[in-house]
Amino acid sequence: MRDGDRWAGKCLICNGWLSFDQRDGVGVNVEHIRPRSAGGDNDLGNLALTHPACNAEKGRHWDQRRARRRAAGDYAALLRRLQERRLARWRDPDAPAGAGDATAPAPLPPAARRTAS
Ligand SMILES: [Zn+2]
Repeated sequence: MRDGDRWAGKCLICNGWLSFDQRDGVGVNVEHIRPRSAGGDNDLGNLALTHPACNAEKGRHWDQRRARRRAAGDYAALLRRLQERRLARWRDPDAPAGAGDATAPAPLPPAARRTAS
């Protein structure tokens, strides 16, 4: 949903509302569902918008190599859940604004690109 220069959408991880200024991206992070350290890429299907805190939480508790090894089954299930949710919300990035919710990460705000993990 676009409202002037603000975007509103839902966090992929906690499903809470996200609202951020699309000029600077403050208030949102771009999440790699499968982290690059685990072979994830920058494909749109692997990216989603999240709260900075949710992104950091996943990074701390789930994405580190040690954590992934310790709970490999749970980690795979988490990634599967997030990817399914991502696909369920898929929107054509070229669709006109307002055609769906704003979870399709296009275009990426510059600041969010910098802070992506
Ligand atoms: Zn969140």
